[in-house]
Amino acid sequence: MKGEKGILFILSGPSGVGKGTVRKTLFEQDPELQYSISVTTRNPREGEVNGVDYFFKSKEEVSTMIEQDEFIEYAEYVGNYYGTPKAYVQETLNQGKDVFLEIEVQGALQVKDNFPEGVFIFLFPPSLEELKNRIINRGTESEDLVRNRLLEAKKEIDMMDAYDYVVVNDQVQLAVDRIQAIVTSEHCKRERISKQYKIALGSDLI
Ligand code: 5GP
Repeated sequence: MKGEKGILFILSGPSGVGKGTVRKTLFEQDPELQYSISVTTRNPREGEVNGVDYFFKSKEEVSTMIEQDEFIEYAEYVGNYYGTPKAYVQETLNQGKDVFLEIEVQGALQVKDNFPEGVFIFLFPPSLEELKNRIINRGTESEDLVRNRLLEAKKEIDMMDAYDYVVVNDQVQLAVDRIQAIVTSEHCKRERISKQYKIALGSDLI
């Protein structure tokens, strides 16, 4: 509807649940959605591109961004900073486009405090045994990092209560289909439509 602001969707869930894969597949299929590229201090993995997968920055650069209040949320996760730049998200929502964040749970809880009208989607593992295997088999990290990521995943699952939707990632395509159904439903919500309708009638027609 004309004049409608975009909706902020927050995809989050435990480490190793497959958030990255689900997000990439979703974006291949839905070019209308806008992905907010995060800032991180971690080193690029093989094949990752600056400005596509992340904005890779130094700790000093990120500290300055934090001081200047440039993040909607940020979190320290397994020894590195990750943050969502505020300007891009606000501008894109104001243009009426939906914005998608794919972030870990501490950050999602901060977005919930600052942006309660966001739609919070928790990606859930099909089984906890499989989650453990995925973290161990990623193979790009040291034993210490794997152990820390497993500990994080345990704590993160306890945070499900703060979310609006839970999507089980049993198969990537099924998870993507469920997320697309959520996006469609959110646009049909009565309170969103009636608000815009009243604005339109108030300003344009009467
Ligand atoms: P990875 O290092 O595997 O790319 O990401 C580690 C975790 O950080 C993942 O759970 C990912 O969703 C999360 N993450 C990525 N970007 C952000 C961000 O901007 N903010 C927060 N809080 N977490 C993020």
